[in-house]
Amino acid sequence: MLNVILIATRLPAGMANISLTTYAQDFISSAIKPDDTVIDATAGNGHDTLFLANGVGKGGCVYAFDIQEQAIRHVRLRLDQSGQSQQLKLIQDGHQNMLLHIPASLHSSITAIMFNLGYLPGGDKSLTTQEATTLSALTQAFKLLMPGGMLSIMAYTGHPGGRAEAEAIKQWASALTP
Ligand code: SAH
Repeated sequence: MLNVILIATRLPAGMANISLTTYAQDFISSAIKPDDTVIDATAGNGHDTLFLANGVGKGGCVYAFDIQEQAIRHVRLRLDQSGQSQQLKLIQDGHQNMLLHIPASLHSSITAIMFNLGYLPGGDKSLTTQEATTLSALTQAFKLLMPGGMLSIMAYTGHPGGRAEAEAIKQWASALTP
């Protein structure tokens, strides 16, 4: 079974009344079910992490990565307050080290991976995801996803480096075997 990828830098025409985050979540929601193991590659303020934790439930597992301590704190708090931290594995490290953190027994068995690139909303805008590490993480994501697993990538073009990152992702995707 093929993997399904959504790459977006903006909403499709006519879909103006939802956020890009909601758009990605709607896409991913068809992939996840209770007890699944999933990954939030850019945990940030934890909106996607909480969405994933709700989706897989207490019997599932969400690996969430972020390099910033501020993000890690926000995610922990958000999931604690929602009573969804039992299934959370929060990792303060770059997603380019994803394969090292996820036990080999889980490789090729992850049902969904979400990337929401750019900078932490409300945080340091100069600290953004980077083309090289994003591409490395995406390659690893494919080793982790199960056949039929889903990958969402939200990329932003308004900050320095954002457009080049988005272009590099599109090129990476176009080179994948169908
Ligand atoms: N999905 C989040 C928003 C993510 S913002 C939400 O719902 O709130 C992008 C995040 O990526 C930032 O928090 C930033 O710290 C993080 N980031 C930057 N480089 C990273 C890397 N190499 N690995 C993991 N996270 C990274």
